[in-house]
Amino acid sequence: MSPRNPYIDLAAPAVSELAPYLPGKPVAEVEREFGITDAVKLASNENPRGPSPRVREALARVLDEQATAGIARYPDGAGYYLRSALAEHLGVAPEQVTLGNGSNDVLVLLAETFLTPATSAIYDEYSFVVYRLAVQACGAEARVAASRPPGAAQALGHDLAAMRALVDETTRLLFIANPNNPTGTWVEQQALLELLRSLPPGVIVVLDEAYLEYARQPGDADAVRWLAEFPNLVIVRTFSKAYGLASLRVGYGVSAPGIAELLNRVRQPFNVNSLAQVAAIAALEDQHWIDACVEANAAARAELCAGLEQLGFAALPSRGNFVLADFGSAATAAACNDFLLRAGVIVRPVANYGLARYLRITAGTAAEVRKLLAALADFRSRS
Ligand SMILES: *Cc1c(COP(=O)(O)O)cnc(C)c1O
Repeated sequence: MSPRNPYIDLAAPAVSELAPYLPGKPVAEVEREFGITDAVKLASNENPRGPSPRVREALARVLDEQATAGIARYPDGAGYYLRSALAEHLGVAPEQVTLGNGSNDVLVLLAETFLTPATSAIYDEYSFVVYRLAVQACGAEARVAASRPPGAAQALGHDLAAMRALVDETTRLLFIANPNNPTGTWVEQQALLELLRSLPPGVIVVLDEAYLEYARQPGDADAVRWLAEFPNLVIVRTFSKAYGLASLRVGYGVSAPGIAELLNRVRQPFNVNSLAQVAAIAALEDQHWIDACVEANAAARAELCAGLEQLGFAALPSRGNFVLADFGSAATAAACNDFLLRAGVIVRPVANYGLARYLRITAGTAAEVRKLLAALADFRSRS
């Protein structure tokens, strides 16, 4: 055990109780640790095809001689061009768009803007861990709704009625991930609309659509259209997943202008750097690339699920670019994770979510999925 942190008593009470986010290990570190090469990383739900080729061209232009001076300058703090491009893409006014250093930043801004120790925020038991971190850091009361139980329809998914039941006059934020990470579960639009209709206007619903591009179904409405009816809705999206820009850190919120104006008061003035802004604009312009990536993901995810099933491992239905695979026990999941690391496949343990018998696996390229499935077959035959 590590020695007690001598500064812990000096920290804000909310911070002294925080458990930090545990990121997956970088590929190079795993390769060094296990003495392997050509490891594949299926741990963080990035787009294995990367961003549109147009992004590289746009970045090259920024990094050319003249623009190298560009990175000596502060970025455009208002993100004028990116917010305009997003506003046009989404059919909203630029004043409704808040840029973040990843959508993580927007989630934290929402917490900082609306939460105090006298307020509460609601999220699902197995939802994206950043909600808990953001709520706890503000010292607000976290009200954790039980997920749908294993075996039920939409097992481990959000139970919107359970979430609704936790709302009272102290509640400021209610987080919904659609689809959710790490479970891959989703909520139907009709159920979401019913929840929105049932809530008092003072409860802000944070609809996290980090995997929207992968999840969209024919006939689905764009949640942005709901803002007209529900000004207490904030939609949060990212360039980290389908758009392939995870490293550059850029995401955004879409909301009523009044909410965006408040977030803007808390936002660091230069929270999104110049390269990220340029890359995001270029990425947004190439929707064909996104379509192709979504198609490739659907094929890889189907192959992954079929392969898991063939090996006797159940996977939750997923609308993300990843699946949550069930290994039956925490011990088996841990042993499998260790086995996969030695075989050069990095997946994501989710014990920190209270889901110790599962591993989250990103649907990478077809070749990556084959490598994973071969390693899993190997694990199966030895255990
Ligand atoms: C990955 C992810 C995000 C945010 O990622 P950023 O890189 O900070 O934009 C947000 N929500 C969910 C559910 C995610 O899985």
